[in-house]
Amino acid sequence: SSLYRVDGWGAPYFFVSPKGQVAVHPNGHRTKLNDEINLINVIKQMVKPKVKGGLGLTTPAILRFPDVLKHRLHTLQSCFDNAIKLRKFQGCFKGVFPVKCNQNHSVIDNIVEFGNPFAFGLEAGSKPELLLAMTALSKGNPNALLVCNGYKDADYVCLALIARHIGLNCIIVLEQEEELDLVMAISKTLSIEPVIGLRAKLNTKHAGHFGDTSGENGKFGLSCSEIVVIVNKLYRMKMLSSLQLLHFHIGSQIPSLAILKDGVSEAAQIYCELALMGANMRFIDIGGGLGIDYDGTNSSNSDMSVGYSMEEYAIEVVKAVQDACSMKGVQHPTLCSESGRALVSHHSVLVFDVLSSSRTKNHMVTQGVSLEVEGLPADLKSLHTSLIGFAKACDYQGALECAKLLKHGCIELFKQGKLGLAQLACVNSIYEVVCEAGDVDNKHRTTSAQSHNAVYHVNLSLFRCMPDTWAIGQLFPIIPLHRLEEEPKVRAILSDLTCDSDGKVVTFVGKDNKGRRVNYLRVHELEEGKPYYMGMFLGGAYQEALGNLHNLFGTPHVVNVYRGAERDAAEFELVKASDGQTAADVLKLMQYEPTSMLETLKLQIQKSLNCGKEEEAMGLIQSIASSFGASTYLSTNHPRSSILSK
Ligand code: PLP
Repeated sequence: SSLYRVDGWGAPYFFVSPKGQVAVHPNGHRTKLNDEINLINVIKQMVKPKVKGGLGLTTPAILRFPDVLKHRLHTLQSCFDNAIKLRKFQGCFKGVFPVKCNQNHSVIDNIVEFGNPFAFGLEAGSKPELLLAMTALSKGNPNALLVCNGYKDADYVCLALIARHIGLNCIIVLEQEEELDLVMAISKTLSIEPVIGLRAKLNTKHAGHFGDTSGENGKFGLSCSEIVVIVNKLYRMKMLSSLQLLHFHIGSQIPSLAILKDGVSEAAQIYCELALMGANMRFIDIGGGLGIDYDGTNSSNSDMSVGYSMEEYAIEVVKAVQDACSMKGVQHPTLCSESGRALVSHHSVLVFDVLSSSRTKNHMVTQGVSLEVEGLPADLKSLHTSLIGFAKACDYQGALECAKLLKHGCIELFKQGKLGLAQLACVNSIYEVVCEAGDVDNKHRTTSAQSHNAVYHVNLSLFRCMPDTWAIGQLFPIIPLHRLEEEPKVRAILSDLTCDSDGKVVTFVGKDNKGRRVNYLRVHELEEGKPYYMGMFLGGAYQEALGNLHNLFGTPHVVNVYRGAERDAAEFELVKASDGQTAADVLKLMQYEPTSMLETLKLQIQKSLNCGKEEEAMGLIQSIASSFGASTYLSTNHPRSSILSK
């Protein structure tokens, strides 16, 4: 547990059980003796064939824990409720979830259902997002807010006004000056009065990972002069009463309370000025940015962590707004936040299997290798003799240095045509043997292992399942899900299925003794015929929508995991939320028609086989047909097709 810092990034949900397996407390705390869900048991049940009572699904898969989501939502609400009470703030807190963080149907329905008691709302940034938010909130608390952000055209504005018409508490936030004319014209045509918000472009900027959204050169929002122009326009139209909300967004993953305070104070001053200018101000929407601790360090000095808790965040916001309002004599507003990452990141876990390891292969290649090489030229021969000398004296550092030079020299000679492939292979194997020998030698572990991490090939597309790892160097905690009672002796990087050298994970939670982020993960030796499962945590925000189709690897299966009913003793209950995409699904997205593809290939098979081989042809056709309907990932727990398993 301490090796992977599970307590740092995983608490209060994830922990390592005494049996060495990763388990979940979906309620965020232990409520009864056996109130924990073991992830390996969930996977076992998920992959078990349907006829045996399982779901018959394969990994990779996303496991969702709706109870974790509920706990996050309730915690956010209670942090603000407590801060409001503590500070005797006059307004209340009414959050919205920015649906772009995770638009999945079950996630949105869960948020609306769990947030119903305190009127938790939704934020949309595009027309499809608005449509889904309108539908979801129609079944929710009528007091919940529906905040419309993003660039807008006439259709978007029209939808937002219809949302008001059907009784939703919809607020159109203007990102650009021109949007005001559009809103006014359409509201007049439809005879639906709008409620308007303004998105302010603050001067406060955070230098962290996601700070580019903020500051005066940020992409979004209105400058103070544009805000004044809009207010004057509304005043002339006698529509100042429509202006009720001020919105801003400092950037995602705000690193420290100091930056939060700076941003909220600046925005609160704008809010007060708007109120004093005669607008009907009621809400201040502080945007997203509440960060989470990806590396488990709880530190504002790390770009993968934050140096504050949710409680402290809420107190700082309440205080900054209260101070500005008290100074300007303005009534306290309703506080709204658009926290996304902090709400949904923890509730889903991506589970996947390891297919093979470069270490196993090297091991097979190097078994029985002698240190002898025939026919080396004189200068390399002396290097080779020194290598043998170091190896005999168990000086792994010296042997490794020689092996590196020898390998390099041989590659050069091979390129010039002066060395045979067999000799090159021989030297390569010696190099592997020396690296492995150094690896098990404690004294030289660091040096040799850093230059020689094993590669664990994982049944996954990084571009589909954890795209931020590739796109922005995001760190997600990744750990083995079992065998944690054994010391993980192998240092590995992870390499995915795509034919792309960027498809690998090379940074992991933890620091080396020089304070640098580690470039390997401690894993266990793979065991013949036994699956090795790993999990990627904190990926519940953004990853699913950002994931792409590189190499046509599709979405993984999604399974909702519920706690077992109180009545029976079941540890958990699994409900499939969606099937992963099949080969046919992803081909359709690239404008192919799988049925006619199958027809084309069928004709080719029939042409290529002589008459009388109809049965054989049928087998091949069946094999192709089943490939269209199968997962895009490698199948490790099912025989692929009847013909291939014969
Ligand atoms: N609101 C707006 C306007 C955003 O741009 C974002 C994300 O960048 C969010 C909310 C959600 O931010 P976070 O996920 O950091 O809470």
